Amino acid sequence: MNKPVQIKRDENIDYNIQKYIKPEYVYIPLENKNGVVYKHLVKEGDYIYKGQVVAVNEGINFPIHSSVSGYATMGNNKIIDDGKKVKCIVIKNDFKEKYQKSKLSVKEKYTKQDFIDALRENGITGLGGSDFPTFLKYNIDKPKCLIVNAVECEPFVSCDKVVIHNYSDCILEAIDMIMEIMGIPRAIIGLKENNLDSINSFKKYLGTYPKIKLGFVKDAYPNGWERNLVRELLDIEYDKYPTEQGIIVSNVSTIYAIYEMFKYNRPLTERIITITGTGIKNRRNVKVKIGATISEIIANLDGYNNLKNPIFIAGGPMMGNSLPVDDVIITKDLNAVLVIEDDFEKNLPCIKCGKCIEVCPAGIYPVFIMNNGNNIDKLKELKPGKCIECGLCSFICPSKIEVREFVRMAKVKVSDR
Ligand code: SF4
Ligand code: SF4
Repeated sequence: MNKPVQIKRDENIDYNIQKYIKPEYVYIPLENKNGVVYKHLVKEGDYIYKGQVVAVNEGINFPIHSSVSGYATMGNNKIIDDGKKVKCIVIKNDFKEKYQKSKLSVKEKYTKQDFIDALRENGITGLGGSDFPTFLKYNIDKPKCLIVNAVECEPFVSCDKVVIHNYSDCILEAIDMIMEIMGIPRAIIGLKENNLDSINSFKKYLGTYPKIKLGFVKDAYPNGWERNLVRELLDIEYDKYPTEQGIIVSNVSTIYAIYEMFKYNRPLTERIITITGTGIKNRRNVKVKIGATISEIIANLDGYNNLKNPIFIAGGPMMGNSLPVDDVIITKDLNAVLVIEDDFEKNLPCIKCGKCIEVCPAGIYPVFIMNNGNNIDKLKELKPGKCIECGLCSFICPSKIEVREFVRMAKVKVSDR
């Protein structure tokens, strides 16, 4: 088994949450980073309520909602967090935050089916970066354990820690409600063993919830990866998904979104993201509307420091994507934006040290995949599809080669056949 890697961290966290929830426009993308396409349900000139369904993934009847009220225009293309330019519905905010009347009643009691329907209808997805519809995870028989992933192992990213610091009581209440509704006998909140702030935030309220325990992993990357977490906490392996073993894994910010759903019965239209890096004047965690642009949010945070060659990284430094510009929209899966100086040495030749193979948690051979990019038969044998895009191969490479990008390209080539 490959060993997780120790990575230097920036752990100076400001736990106050700044709000920037008044963007002038929001952009609702009609495609996500996983290639899922949404059908738009509104047309230019329509008045849109906050929380109104504006597009749908028809395959699974999964809706996307507007995060503001205002008037719709169509056809603008914007960049999403994987660098793709996609068509968006654009809504000009009228700053009235008008909800449809049907969205103003709160449900007192949920059956399991009500809960699954509510997760779908309110558009709850994995906020840890997966963008996976949460209702699909919870739609299983006799779940044995709920693991709440609060490991947040990427350096610089602190939005989960900030959510825990401010809302640990709400998170515990939501876990308890989910266990009751779903009949789950036990829950474990997975944390890094040295994350004392989060541990203490939970310990303050944990006494009321005897079926919820804390579980600890070492502070190393990628210990927040679902497979590592399940192995470390329960000593269980699975093939594709933990649900095969009756285990549901949800990110801690997703659990907080479920808490808000229980409390307000309203769709997920806002999230907290980390905005940080040497290029940012005022580094912090910000509550933002889904569909707002990063450029507008950063301008509202006092703007940029002067850097020679700034790069924008959507997501953390390990798994994120570097982007040439800041005109990128906030999607539910975007947990961080990092702005740093692009002073990396690049394009040195591979010295065949094998370090990328040593660290790869998926147990594949990144350097071989890179060197066989045009040999489809060989690529199929090397299984690039198992890559979880953790970025460790690029991080560890002494020649500073972006090995992960070669593996990603290979993944696409093989999946196309
Ligand atoms: S990015 Fe993919 S290939 Fe590279 S170390 Fe992570 S899992 Fe392995
Ligand atoms: S870590 Fe970099 S230099 Fe070493 S084998 Fe992999 S690609 Fe080559």
